[in-house]
Amino acid sequence: MAKINSKLFFKAKKYLVGGVDSPVRSFRYVGGQPVVIKAGKGSTLYDYEGKSYIDYVLSFGALILGHAHPQVVKALKHKIESGFSFGATNTSEIALAKTITRAIPFIDKIRFVNSGTEAVMGALRLSRGYTGRVKILKFSNSFHGSADYLLAESGSGLATLNIATSAGVPQDFIKHTLVAPYGNISAVEKLFKGYGKEIAAVIVEPVGGNYGVIPPDINFLNGLRRITRKAGSLLVFDEVITGFRFHYGSSAQDFGVTPDLICLGKIIGGGLPIGAFGGRAEVMRHLAPDGNVYQASTFAGNPVVMQAGLKTLEILANSRREYQRINALTDYLSQSLREGAVRRGIDIDVVNYKSMFSLKFRQKKQFTIFYRHLLKKGVYFAPSEFETDFLSFAHTNKDIAKTLDATLSAISAIGGGNDTWKC
Ligand code: PMP
Repeated sequence: MAKINSKLFFKAKKYLVGGVDSPVRSFRYVGGQPVVIKAGKGSTLYDYEGKSYIDYVLSFGALILGHAHPQVVKALKHKIESGFSFGATNTSEIALAKTITRAIPFIDKIRFVNSGTEAVMGALRLSRGYTGRVKILKFSNSFHGSADYLLAESGSGLATLNIATSAGVPQDFIKHTLVAPYGNISAVEKLFKGYGKEIAAVIVEPVGGNYGVIPPDINFLNGLRRITRKAGSLLVFDEVITGFRFHYGSSAQDFGVTPDLICLGKIIGGGLPIGAFGGRAEVMRHLAPDGNVYQASTFAGNPVVMQAGLKTLEILANSRREYQRINALTDYLSQSLREGAVRRGIDIDVVNYKSMFSLKFRQKKQFTIFYRHLLKKGVYFAPSEFETDFLSFAHTNKDIAKTLDATLSAISAIGGGNDTWKC
């Protein structure tokens, strides 16, 4: 029985590079074998050996309602009966566009794509076309998808594999990408002094989710707004993770900083592949077919994906208390983890911002022990310290109590001690 997963992963490795379709799933960082997943329901994943796991990866943040939410499943079943790809305008995409532009008022117009990567590529090409400039400024350890010119100092995936810039990216392709440390406004000012008239856009994750959680620095975001406005560059918020994660809308609205363009993904597709970018009509009209910035794809605005997004956002629109509940639950989990680690003499940083959290140990080996132990106990965290973990509306107090028990014994497995949690 206990061999089923090994057999499946062996087969996966035969046909898929490293047995995965994305390196962050590969367990390179923690060692051992990834679990091959059979099903997901609510907060829980199931493997082929009959074991269940409380899931904190949630498809890297996409599944805020948890797995296979019954209302989303029902909406999809109904929708799929009437065809699942048209390559033409459909009413679900109109409805989702209307819903998002109402929820995020600084978006007049939106373009749907198939992934966060495409959303960022579209927004940055549009920024270059609109401004007639070439350079893009990004921040170290932020990740904006896997476009060639953004794979420099690019956060979790590369950090996990310990590489700075991907092989296969010619130096020429990144020569227009400027990189500054996040939070350092004088470094940004300096770059603008040198290249101001060449910078088409500054792209930033307002809450960092790709080097563990990096809580927002609102002064810094305001500084970026001031500098870009003065220089005639566009400010692009990459909210692929954070859009609709903390409340019904963008995190930009929380901070009172309005970007020129926003990139969305993950949650707005309800767990199906999606990306989107949007902003002021005056900028968006430069996009083809109205303008001369080309952007296109076969499956964009796919009716089934749009329906999953629509149903998800419909639920989120009425979920103020659920948002508050998971934010508070994540605070509690994070604080309990900090205290538990201190009691056991283990030095870890637990960082959380609302329903996102991440852990960093002093030594990689400690995380590896911790991780393997958690997995055995049925808790599925992201398999790298540089990735972020998430809560969903499906997570219950019981899940959190079980997770705390598991983390307690996992921490003890590193450093000894046998306290019990007060839940
Ligand atoms: N931007 C951010 C902030 C992300 O975290 C990610 C992926 N995690 C992307 C862009 C790329 O999205 P996708 O994986 O859907 O291409």
